[in-house]
Amino acid sequence: MKMLIYDIVKTGLLLGSINGLRYFLIAGIAFLIFYIFFPNQFFKAKIQANIAPNAAFFREIKYSLLSGFITAFIIALILKSDLKNSSLIYDQINEYPIYWIFVSYFLAILFHDTWFYWLHRFFHLSWVYKKVHKIHHLSVNPSPWTSFSFHVLEAIGEGLVILPLVYLIPIHKLTLLFFGLSIFVINVYGHLGYEIAPKWFRKSIFFEFINSSVHHNLHHSKFKGNYGLYFRFWDRFMGTEHADYVKIFDEIQSKRFSNSEKTHFQE
Ligand SMILES: [Zn+2]
Ligand SMILES: [Zn+2]
Repeated sequence: MKMLIYDIVKTGLLLGSINGLRYFLIAGIAFLIFYIFFPNQFFKAKIQANIAPNAAFFREIKYSLLSGFITAFIIALILKSDLKNSSLIYDQINEYPIYWIFVSYFLAILFHDTWFYWLHRFFHLSWVYKKVHKIHHLSVNPSPWTSFSFHVLEAIGEGLVILPLVYLIPIHKLTLLFFGLSIFVINVYGHLGYEIAPKWFRKSIFFEFINSSVHHNLHHSKFKGNYGLYFRFWDRFMGTEHADYVKIFDEIQSKRFSNSEKTHFQE
C-alpha cells in the first residue's frame, strides 16, 4: 500500500511537471507570437481590443499549473493502481484494427465535448459559479495563459473525464497521449484572444459544428452562453449559443481579410 502511494505520488509529480512544461511551451509560444513579438501584425484578428493586465497573466499561470498537477495525479492514480488493468487502455497497437486508433480518438473527442458542455453548464449554476467557476471567469479578456486557469474543484471535474473514457472506449496509450495534446491545443486556441480561423472556414460545413476562438471568447466577455469546447452541437441543440455569435465572427473575419489600413485601435 505504501509502495502504491509512493508510486502514484512519483508518477503524479512527473506527469504534472510534463504538463507544466507543455503548458509553457504551447501557451507560451502562442503568447510570445501574439502578445509580445507580433501584436501589430495580428491587430485585425484581436477579438477584444484591449489587452488583459499582467496581474491576470500571473494568476492564470498559477491556477493552470495547479490544474496540470491535479490532472496528472488523476492519470497517475489510473495508471499505477488496478484501475488500468480493468480499463480498456491497451498497450499493443495490434490488439485492435489500426483504424481504431482514429475512431477511438474521435470518439474520445466527442465524449469529452459532451462531458465538458454539461459540466460547464453545472459550473454555471449560481452557487457553483460563485464558489468554483468564478476563478476561470476572472479572465474576461482571455489569453493563452487562461487555458487551464481553474479552481481546484473544477480541475478535478475536468480531469475526471479520463475515468469513464477509459472504461467506455478501448483506447491505445498513444491515442490517449494525442487526445491530451488536443485538449491543450483546443484550450489555447479558444483562449487565444485572436481569431486565426482561415477565410474558407466560414463557408465550409465545418463552421456549422466546429467552435472558433470567437465562440469561447464570447463566453468570457458575456459570462454565459457558448458552453461547448470543440463543437457547437450542444449549444445549438440546447439553444445556449450566443445569438450574435455568427454576426460577431463575420465582423472579425471581414476586418481580418479587408485591405483597409485602419487599425483596430483607431476605430
Ligand atoms: Zn464558464
Ligand atoms: Zn474559458
